[in-house]
Amino acid sequence: MRSQPPSPGSLLAAALSVDAASVDALYGLEPVFEPGSDPRQRPLTDWAKIECPHCWQSYEIAIDLTLGDQQLLEDCQHCCRGLAIFVAVVDDGRAMQVHTEKAFD
Ligand SMILES: [Zn+2]
Repeated sequence: MRSQPPSPGSLLAAALSVDAASVDALYGLEPVFEPGSDPRQRPLTDWAKIECPHCWQSYEIAIDLTLGDQQLLEDCQHCCRGLAIFVAVVDDGRAMQVHTEKAFD
């Protein structure tokens, strides 16, 4: 029976369960803050370690996590050859996986 549309009651319940923080605010509960673990304080940028597939030296670049998955074209800071950097943003925007390939230009 998955083809049935959700009832208004279940939609309301889903809306209320999405944002626990606003529920806390609604009922006057004091949210518990743990520095560094507040999901609303996501890092906007993070440093990705790039390993050049041409010269195998590594360096770090800043990645804007708010952009989501992305593909960057860079010149290696060591050998100046082209890199294609594939970034997959994971963990709801708090982390990323980086894959580097040779770019042909
Ligand atoms: Zn290089």
